[in-house]
Amino acid sequence: MAKHWSDNDFLMATYGVGPEDGHLEACAACRAEFERRQHLRRQTAETAQVPADFLVEQRRRIDARVERPKHGWMFRWSPALGATAMAVALVVWQAPLQKQAPAADQPVAQAAAGAKSDAQLFAEIYQTASDWEPESVTPVKALFEAKQ
Ligand SMILES: [Zn+2]
Repeated sequence: MAKHWSDNDFLMATYGVGPEDGHLEACAACRAEFERRQHLRRQTAETAQVPADFLVEQRRRIDARVERPKHGWMFRWSPALGATAMAVALVVWQAPLQKQAPAADQPVAQAAAGAKSDAQLFAEIYQTASDWEPESVTPVKALFEAKQ
């Protein structure tokens, strides 16, 4: 005899897509279980009627919450406040950079001095970036140097 139906088999059969292996006709235990489940399903469907006044009351409470949101003005305006804060921060951050940049009416030598200091700054940054390596790399690097 084939093995008994699983919960999934019963569930699928309830919706008409269960296994068509003829097991229900051959096995009295599974047939009884299937009929018990069908009876329970019908019983549940009958008693699960929701009273209309409950639904009306539920709808009224949903409408009340939609019309009167729980959160205050701070929650509603927080995206706008965030965007404003970002714009202010950007302006504040950009202000010192604009002071350092040479203006068009300044002498050329002064502008060249500014450009030179920028070049020095970038050279120092490049040097720092190329010299830096994490401490954990040193033992691995030593392995490769030893093999050379
Ligand atoms: Zn069975």
